[in-house]
Amino acid sequence: MYWEKNVETIKRAKLEDLQLGRLKETIGRTKKSYYYGKVFKEKKLGISSLRKLKDIQKFPFTNKDDLREHWPYGFIAVPKEELVRMHSSSGTTGRATVVFHTINDIAVWSNLLARCMYMAGMRKSDVFQNMMTYGLFTGGLGFHYGAEKIGALIIPAGAGNSKRQIQLMRDFETTVVHVIPSYALHLSTVFEELKLDPRKDTKVKIAFLGAEPHTEKMRKKIEEIYGYKAFNSYGLSEMNGPGVAFECPEQNGMHIWEDSFLVEIIDPKTLQPVPDGEEGELVMTTLQREGMPLLRYRTKDLTRIIPEPCSCGRTHRRIERIKGRTDDMLILKGVNIYPMQIEKKLMEISGVGTNFLIVLDREGFNDLMTVKVEMDKKYFSGEMKQMETLRKKIVEELKSEILITPKIDLVEPDSIPKGEGKAVRVIDNRKD
Ligand code: AMP
Ligand code: ZN
Repeated sequence: MYWEKNVETIKRAKLEDLQLGRLKETIGRTKKSYYYGKVFKEKKLGISSLRKLKDIQKFPFTNKDDLREHWPYGFIAVPKEELVRMHSSSGTTGRATVVFHTINDIAVWSNLLARCMYMAGMRKSDVFQNMMTYGLFTGGLGFHYGAEKIGALIIPAGAGNSKRQIQLMRDFETTVVHVIPSYALHLSTVFEELKLDPRKDTKVKIAFLGAEPHTEKMRKKIEEIYGYKAFNSYGLSEMNGPGVAFECPEQNGMHIWEDSFLVEIIDPKTLQPVPDGEEGELVMTTLQREGMPLLRYRTKDLTRIIPEPCSCGRTHRRIERIKGRTDDMLILKGVNIYPMQIEKKLMEISGVGTNFLIVLDREGFNDLMTVKVEMDKKYFSGEMKQMETLRKKIVEELKSEILITPKIDLVEPDSIPKGEGKAVRVIDNRKD
């Protein structure tokens, strides 16, 4: 049974006591990492700086760049031999950040995920098909361990291979799935191709949708196509991955597990906290992590706390569906991509001009990326063959960097409109 009633419905005052105790332990641990050790010394910070929860505001924020700059082990707070697992964000090697876990961290994480899945209605008797990438990405193994705690039968299908997914789903009578929303939509076209109706021809009743932004409209569409209930699952690798915030049966905002994460919402410009109910950037501090505790991590995700209590009885506050980001990170098919990655690669290729534009479209249920690239003039007077060779080279180079195969349009110099001020690098035409 994974309804941890005493924790999930804990009174606010008691929860805050628990958080303060855990925060003090966390500060004690973080001090041992190279990075925080250095920062605490410089800023004369330590456990004694912490009397009440609000004192967290005395501590500096941690950013993705801090993690990158201290690659690979600058944030670990235990001897390396205590670490048992590494994961990374869904970007690629150049920009990805890594996170390390002790055996205890894995147990805590699995527990959080078991709570999430149980909350949404999954039980030991369920057959759970995990359609997420297994490996460095957190979605596969994270959910796998959580489902194992509940005791469900797991089909570790991994991502892709749509026909096989459908066959597994039908042959083994899958009842719960974990899937990226854009893939759920794509998969529905394969059902159609096979002349199958997912509502009639499968037994799936629950889906966990995570890893990328999606609207309420998109959730409804997925629920309508499949005839199951779809629950929003939010997380990020720096905070373990999935299992940070999750919808309950009310399907109205995601409970964020406050016994494990200290939550702040800040104004991304002033960096000051905003009152509950107001939109801002989500900032989190790990309260239980040993291997790589993080203080005031700026997620860059925009959301707000829903101040009203939830009728399910859980006292951990809810955050609203993620509205967007404060940086320029794009998520395509669940993969995080920064325009900078594309720029850097393009600039390494001779013949490429100075301007480019990324256009994202949705064709049917498929998300596509087109990169319009300005080329040197000489290519437009030369042979077509030369141009085609270059186009292929760009496709290959970008694919190796961002893991997605983009469509490349080579265009003449100065043909991409230049706005005033900051260049517009991305046009996102994806609609519900
Ligand atoms: P990663 O570290 O690769 O797991 O990527 C984490 C990022 O994915 C988050 O910071 C969010 O921007 C995004 N993300 C994950 N889950 C969701 C979700 N349910 N809704 C919106 N965005 C999400
Ligand atoms: Zn609830």
